[in-house]
Amino acid sequence: MQHPSLIQRRHFIKLTATAATAALLPKAAGAATERPAALATAPFVLPALGYAFDALEPHIDTLTMEIHHNKHHAAYITNLNAALATAPDLANQPLDNLLASLPAVPDDALRSTLRNHGGGHWNHDFFWKSLAPAAQSGKPSAALATAMDGAFGSLEAFKKSFGVAATKRFGSGWAWLIVQDGKLKITSTANQDNPLMQGVVPAADLGTPLLGLDVWEHAYYLHYQNRRPEYIAAWWNIVNWPAVSARFAAAKV
Ligand code: MN
Repeated sequence: MQHPSLIQRRHFIKLTATAATAALLPKAAGAATERPAALATAPFVLPALGYAFDALEPHIDTLTMEIHHNKHHAAYITNLNAALATAPDLANQPLDNLLASLPAVPDDALRSTLRNHGGGHWNHDFFWKSLAPAAQSGKPSAALATAMDGAFGSLEAFKKSFGVAATKRFGSGWAWLIVQDGKLKITSTANQDNPLMQGVVPAADLGTPLLGLDVWEHAYYLHYQNRRPEYIAAWWNIVNWPAVSARFAAAKV
């Protein structure tokens, strides 16, 4: 039997190759599969971006992307792995399962660490896959566009409501588009919480995430300083709509 770290390393190489291939093929860039190897089981690894650090300019600047990915995201993974190294009984499960069962973790400090850093890893992996260079941003699939029209009135009305949720999130957190009980909804969470965290965040926030926006200051402060609404407005230019549409299709609404 292979050592887990060797298997994980192979997964990492495979994921990196997939990301590099996707970057060359715009149509494939959005074909993000859920639960990629980076989220399979501990020890978790920092997934490569599917695009260059400067690929989202001018909407998100290169230095912000480098620090956000190489420092912030990496730190969540380091801390998550360190916590799971002390709890091998919890380590042998996919990250989304772990996040959906946090109330079953009896130790308060461990549960808090898994919530913050496990959430941090999941959210950032999801975030990078939610973005694409502006030329590859595309648009919602016909099915998603129809569902948005029904839920929000129009794509523009959805963007406005989502932007309000992202702007009003006090302090650090995320805005989300989710599927809840077969319907599209907008919600937001504090810190690194996410809609997978049953029993942790309010029940109204639960659902299958389709799109998430990081509104921590580390996501935008170098370029936008205090102007979060400007960051949100620019961010729409680099949403990976094919990926969001694929998630919607997978959610089987
Ligand atoms: Mn972040």
